[in-house]
Amino acid sequence: MPVLKEVPAEAQVISHRLMLRSGMIRQQASGVYSWLPFGLRALQNIIKVITRNMSKVGSLEMLMPCIQPASLWLESGRFENYGKEMLKFQDRHDNTLLFGPTNEDMITDVFRHNIQSYKDLPKNLYHIQWKFRDEIRPRFGVMRAREFLMKDAYSFDIDQAGAHKSYNQMYLAYLQTFHDMGLHVIPVVADSGVIGGDLSHEFHILAEHGESTIFYDKRFLHLSASKSLNMEEVGSLYAVAEEKHDFNNGNFLEDEIASSKSIEIGHIFYIGTKYSKAMKAVVNDSNGNLVPVEMCSYGIGISRLVAAIIEANHDEKGIIWPSSVAPFTVSILNLNMSDDKCNELSKILYDQLLASDVSVLYDDTEERAGSKFATHDLIGSPYQLIIGSKKGASDIVEVKNRKTGKIEELDINLVMKLFL
Ligand code: ATP
Ligand code: MG
Ligand code: MG
Ligand code: MG
Repeated sequence: MPVLKEVPAEAQVISHRLMLRSGMIRQQASGVYSWLPFGLRALQNIIKVITRNMSKVGSLEMLMPCIQPASLWLESGRFENYGKEMLKFQDRHDNTLLFGPTNEDMITDVFRHNIQSYKDLPKNLYHIQWKFRDEIRPRFGVMRAREFLMKDAYSFDIDQAGAHKSYNQMYLAYLQTFHDMGLHVIPVVADSGVIGGDLSHEFHILAEHGESTIFYDKRFLHLSASKSLNMEEVGSLYAVAEEKHDFNNGNFLEDEIASSKSIEIGHIFYIGTKYSKAMKAVVNDSNGNLVPVEMCSYGIGISRLVAAIIEANHDEKGIIWPSSVAPFTVSILNLNMSDDKCNELSKILYDQLLASDVSVLYDDTEERAGSKFATHDLIGSPYQLIIGSKKGASDIVEVKNRKTGKIEELDINLVMKLFL
């Protein structure tokens, strides 16, 4: 964990600065990053929250390659009009390949070779794979990268009614997923862009340095303060992406609507039959007729989420991880490595936390206390267990809550109760 004390000059937004300072990433080329151990843990925890919620709605995980043959995109008709964001290249036999920016074409190919009957529908499949888009202006670290990790899911239904049901189910699953990451998400009506189709929602969080702008009912600000989601209320309030906003065309008063900079963290599309028609992904319906399958696609920007979560959860000292995605739940700060008692108490807690499956980082460096405090406020574990010579002598551990800053003194025997 190569922690930096100084603020990196190249980073313009807070999440990028904090990710560099806490040793999460290293840029290897414009918009292309290595994930260092600390950063990778955040990424993996976000993946856990996503996969848990995908399983709950019966979406099945698979894995498609990051390299795709151009032939599939020629078949769907997207090859020429996708534009310069697509990275194309030739192999030694002169076949044109591309680094996938998204996977509708390929999943349609997988589907048509495996499913022929309405009896196998509905079906919902997802994968988590690196994407490449040759963004004109990669910036803000992993927020707008060229190589980035996406969870993309695809649903298949026999008819429009079924597809709408699948779409709504994923819409709710997305609200739950982002809620589970401690984010206050606003789902907005959006444009379908190059994916195609006529129904689409984006999921945004408000952020000062966001690259998007959304318009939304001010009641969202109160909604987001509550602990549980009120799905009906969320769905009934006005919220739209900038390009869809129209003051003259909504059921609201102008002063009830706010506009803010925001970050797009997810996007769902009702596609319909654009790909299934072009690529002949047809199934037998219950009358024995061959019909093109109805599709939706659903993306979440996993690597962007790491930055987005930090944008939404930090203070002047550093990151404040929501517990569900924190790389470590607990940091143990042994303030005096030459004190046997401090070492003993630290080791006891470290072993107990490990045994209870609580993720823990033990700072057993020789750094002085002030430096350890700064480092652990920077890397933002929800809890710090501070063990010094004076209080340690009478078995007292200081427990600091990173979010509130409150410190509680506890007998070592009572510490584990906090985490069980
Ligand atoms: P943006 O408007 O930010 O360019 P997009 O609308 O082009 O994103 P989608 O095609 O909807 O992106 O992809 C699904 C998700 O992938 C997005 O909601 C976002 O979270 C993520 N994503 C898209 N582009 C990038 C990128 N360059 N870097 C990191 N994440 C990205
Ligand atoms: Mg884009
Ligand atoms: Mg977008
Ligand atoms: Mg989008």
